[in-house]
Amino acid sequence: MDRRRPDGRRRLRVSPGYNRSMAHRVTLIPGDGIGPELAEATRRVLDASGVAFDWEVQEAGEAMLAAHGTPLPEPVLESIRRNRVALKGPITTPVGEGFRSVNVTLRQTLGLYANLRPARSIDGLRTRYDDVDLVIVRENTEDLYAGIEHMVGPDAAESIKIITRAASERIARFAFDYAVANGRRKVTAVHKANIMKLSDGLFLESCRTVAEDYAGRIEFEDRIVDNMCMQLVQKPDLYDVLVLPNLYGDIVSDLCAGLVGGLGVAPGANIGTDAAVFEPVHGSAPKYAGQNKANPTALILSGVLMLRHLGEQAAAETVEGALRAVIAEGRRTTSDLGGDAGTSEFADAIVERLSSADRTTSDTQAPAAAR
Ligand code: NAD
Repeated sequence: MDRRRPDGRRRLRVSPGYNRSMAHRVTLIPGDGIGPELAEATRRVLDASGVAFDWEVQEAGEAMLAAHGTPLPEPVLESIRRNRVALKGPITTPVGEGFRSVNVTLRQTLGLYANLRPARSIDGLRTRYDDVDLVIVRENTEDLYAGIEHMVGPDAAESIKIITRAASERIARFAFDYAVANGRRKVTAVHKANIMKLSDGLFLESCRTVAEDYAGRIEFEDRIVDNMCMQLVQKPDLYDVLVLPNLYGDIVSDLCAGLVGGLGVAPGANIGTDAAVFEPVHGSAPKYAGQNKANPTALILSGVLMLRHLGEQAAAETVEGALRAVIAEGRRTTSDLGGDAGTSEFADAIVERLSSADRTTSDTQAPAAAR
């Protein structure tokens, strides 16, 4: 249920009984296309996790353009800066014209330099491989996403690819630190330094420099991006953590999503020093918008990454476990996973599992006399 606050922001009520002072205040950006229905499903699942949230709902995207003159109004950025954590649905970007991507602007404005996209197999999904466990670490602020483009006369265009040592070393360090913290064994740097000897050459050189600091702890190797794509399709088990410049990271993470069940199940996190925005790999899939058909898994798993970021490890395990159990059961999932449930029924199934797990735990923990 929504409430208006005096400053005009919308606030979703947390379940009764929660101690509001303990609640995590999180900016919730539903987005557009399939975003709002996925955000609603995810919010219900996270609210059933036992962790208290104080959701601060903020709208962004094309609908805001008319009212505010920008698809990314300042209050959205202020909210994320204040709360330091946001959960975000996809936002449509006009193709070949119109406003600049809200998603890219958010990442660049807030300095969310690391895009973390895990791709892990889920039991019960029919895919080529059963045991994929890859982590994509994508540089999130520069490369061809710097947005420096111009026409050279009427018939030619140039896009400038920016690669800096500072951003490359920072993302490499993020990948290695992630590997250490999460018990991973190897980091593979992905590039096209045989052709772009300066820009991709600098990225590779930066990764090599950082790798030296982790020698003996985390293995390091590099692959040329075209070969990497072929290798991932044929033998994904050879790889572990991949670190890539922005554009290759975008493309290769969709490939990895395809290995584990498609875009409907691929989560992501944009992480900076001052804030983190959790969002799925997929976009706004306009053809499914408003039909209660889209798969909420990717946004729910992004919520699981958020729970871990907030230090709520136990709740993260519980939510992921309930989601995986519903998928393994196979009856109440969306059509992209072979089921015939809608988005909201899929969420209901997860919420029911979480609620019954909760009852079981409190029954077990209750003193004998009270049972
Ligand atoms: P998309 O990811 O929206 O959809 C591609 C296809 O993947 C869909 O047609 C659908 O078949 C499938 N799919 C995606 N999400 C799904 C889900 N949750 N459940 C079931 N199936 C799902 O990619 P697109 O069509 O290239 O892009 C549409 C719009 O989204 C564009 O405007 C693009 O710029 C934007 N986009 C936004 C983000 C973001 O918000 N971070 C990311 C990617 C694309």
